[in-house]
Amino acid sequence: NPKTILVTGGAGYVGSHCVAELLDRGHRVVVFDNLRQGHAAAVPPEAAFVQADLADPEALARVFAQWRFDAVFHFAALSVVGESMRDPHAYLHGNTVTSLNLIRATVEAGVRKLVFSSTANLFGSPSRMPIDEDEAIDPGSPYGESKFMIERALHWADRCHGLRSACLRYFNAAGAHPNGRIGEDHSPETHLIPLVLDAAAGKRPHIEIFGDDYATPDGTCVRDYIHVCDLADAHLRVLDALEERSVRYNLGNGTGYSVREVIDAVERITGNRVPVVVGPRRPGDLPVLIASSERIRRDLGWQPRFPGLDAIIGGAWAWRCAHPQGYRTLAKAAE
Ligand code: UDP
Repeated sequence: NPKTILVTGGAGYVGSHCVAELLDRGHRVVVFDNLRQGHAAAVPPEAAFVQADLADPEALARVFAQWRFDAVFHFAALSVVGESMRDPHAYLHGNTVTSLNLIRATVEAGVRKLVFSSTANLFGSPSRMPIDEDEAIDPGSPYGESKFMIERALHWADRCHGLRSACLRYFNAAGAHPNGRIGEDHSPETHLIPLVLDAAAGKRPHIEIFGDDYATPDGTCVRDYIHVCDLADAHLRVLDALEERSVRYNLGNGTGYSVREVIDAVERITGNRVPVVVGPRRPGDLPVLIASSERIRRDLGWQPRFPGLDAIIGGAWAWRCAHPQGYRTLAKAAE
């Protein structure tokens, strides 16, 4: 049966892929996004769109007055780890105040379910690999800390108001929707796969590897890249689980790939050479980050539909070839 879902940050990267998944399954969607990072062109015409800021409680009140939501998906946030190290206040204040406004509005409207976009950055000093949900929380940055503060607020919103929530700790979201209409377009871009693809396309002179002297097989950092549509699928599955209780899940493929393996895969898939420069380590990077997603597999039968690097990079490359300027390509075409 179709549900009505409020999606904050629905014009952003992971949010827009969840919107697509919701619409594909026949749900109604209202996107709430300030478009500071998101793109209007990422919101399909089938979704209602409200351009507003979560810092504005009146804007939120109007949205909750206009629609009766079955659940809220909360993606809107500042999300650049490095920037949070330079300006912790922007993250600790900005991400929490907006989320507290949203939680209050959700509770006041009597909406009982919220799915929250959390992060592997909660695990800044992991004691074992892969990382499961029992790992100690020790955020690796003010960004991660802000996400943890929101997880705690959600914990109390459940205890005190019965708002059920799912906290989904994403590892490295990557790839693009097979429908070819949405993909990854950050400004500035900081993520490895789109940067390597730009180097393969000749749009950057090279990719800089941030350190090749780590204690890993080839010396470069190992990460768990998960297809953004597999993340979207997990959001829909947890909605049903929330009938019973709040949950939290780590979400990754369970397989790690090194920076060099990503570069090799990009060369293979694009057929282009990627010039490489080895630079110093990036502060705050851990050598290896791999998720154990056993819990969500067991509880909800979730499993990645696009588990390998090839499907992830292939989709991202197809989107970038069709949109060489990202969403600006579409804006130009519409002029
Ligand atoms: N990385 C790199 N060069 C870049 C960007 C990223 O070597 O220009 C490395 C980074 O050090 C990390 C991995 O690629 O080990 C993934 O980085 P990304 O920023 O995409 O995600 P993170 O793991 O930081 O969330």
